[in-house]
Amino acid sequence: MLRPLPRMVAPFRDETITSYLHRLAGPNHIDPAALRALLAGSDRKDAPVPLGRLAAVAGIPCRPLAYAMPQICTAGELSALHLRHRPRARPGWAFPACRPCAAGQPVTRWALHDDVVCYRHRRWISKDHEQPGLTRQPEILHAHRRHRRLIRRHGRDPVMRALRDAQHICIGWRLNGLRDPGFDRRMEIFCGPGWDGPGEWAPQAYDAATYPQSVAMARLLASPYWRERILGTSWAGHDEFTAELRRTVAPGYTWGNYPRTRWRRDRDDPLLEWRLDTRRLQLEPLPPGHAWNLPETIQPAALAAPGSQAGATVTEDEGQDQQTGRRRVKQYAAGGPLLRQAVRLPRTRFNEKPPRSGRGEPDSVRQQHRPGLIESGPARSEP
Ligand SMILES: [Zn+2]
Repeated sequence: MLRPLPRMVAPFRDETITSYLHRLAGPNHIDPAALRALLAGSDRKDAPVPLGRLAAVAGIPCRPLAYAMPQICTAGELSALHLRHRPRARPGWAFPACRPCAAGQPVTRWALHDDVVCYRHRRWISKDHEQPGLTRQPEILHAHRRHRRLIRRHGRDPVMRALRDAQHICIGWRLNGLRDPGFDRRMEIFCGPGWDGPGEWAPQAYDAATYPQSVAMARLLASPYWRERILGTSWAGHDEFTAELRRTVAPGYTWGNYPRTRWRRDRDDPLLEWRLDTRRLQLEPLPPGHAWNLPETIQPAALAAPGSQAGATVTEDEGQDQQTGRRRVKQYAAGGPLLRQAVRLPRTRFNEKPPRSGRGEPDSVRQQHRPGLIESGPARSEP
């Protein structure tokens, strides 16, 4: 029979079990690993900790503890809770909580993909322990508000995937020499003039500085209207998309000309690669349970085996799905887009041509796509 420990410690919302056990063990002068082994009945680091046993030791009733840490609940325990927008335990998505919010305590919590800014304390939150201040970064704060609006408009998971793809595309452009003027400005605010030297910038500042462009790109990739334009086969749609892209994301982007300036012989424009991969996935979708398609929030109904825990097999130390900028840069330099990695698609050059739908169209299409004529088309606003 387990008895409550003498010192009670309140859990933070979505705190990881490892983080909570450390904070609980410290003031009670016991070894966190031994506490975990006692609760889980196993020496394995990732052994699931039963909610009831944790509640008994922590001296907290099961229900409030389950609301605070639903990631440790079994499917049966979750069915009694009414949860919305709570992060699933996903490899690589355990973030240190904003330090002022956690009153300086070392708290690690499961994060949603938009949990990257603490508005109250104006800090950038990521997997890293450094949390750069955003008081002088209105563009990043504004981008975060836009990000949340996108989620309300298009749904959480479509925007998560759109942002993931957008980050990859934007990093590819940067490596290929397509500059984002705002990025340099924001990096200078973070790191001061001369930030571009080796070792002068930190990955978390890099991530924060790229964020506004990624959100602007995600807006296009998440919108059904703009997806139809870029994924369709009409040149007029492509032109409309490109005009919007240049207006809102990358002023220097040139559709069609850009792949010729690739920095490696086998490197195409990452947006074209994305288009090709996405169109292929429309024809050959991934299986429904593929990790690429899983939601980022806890879905009680979708949880499979009774007795399994929402985060039973995931510890916050494992996995690197949420990558820092430097890692993503390395990954991009090493191979194709994330999407191709996930589905193991063969490498293909962008070589599609739109179908000829009418007499005389090819010439007009070619004329339309001469550089300089791209912007001349009517720029309709998104309905
Ligand atoms: Zn905070």
